[in-house]
Amino acid sequence: MPDTAIRELDWYLRDHLFRQSNAGKAAFRRESLPSEMAGLYLRYRNADLQQLSETMTYVLEALVAKKVLEWGSNELTLPGRLARLQCAKCFYINYLADAEQRACLRCQHGELHDFPGKKA
Ligand SMILES: [Zn+2]
Repeated sequence: MPDTAIRELDWYLRDHLFRQSNAGKAAFRRESLPSEMAGLYLRYRNADLQQLSETMTYVLEALVAKKVLEWGSNELTLPGRLARLQCAKCFYINYLADAEQRACLRCQHGELHDFPGKKA
């Protein structure tokens, strides 16, 4: 499994979880996630769902280990909200859970700002 595919899916999945949690959803069915992603993101529109599901296995394992997600009885749950933060150094958009170290996932820089900036 190429690291780039895992890192890319990690980003898109965090984006998906962030948007869903903002819409009030905090529980996700594992088996539905690949088709949800394919339906929502142009990047995965023509993806092989079997392959996407395999990559997702790695991504989900890592997210559970980092306490971004938890396994419920038959679904994955978000224990808290994700924050959308932009790196002050490389401008990468990060989605971070409370349990995670507040550092850029791409360059490890520690200065992150809310993205987009606070609303007036
Ligand atoms: Zn960065």
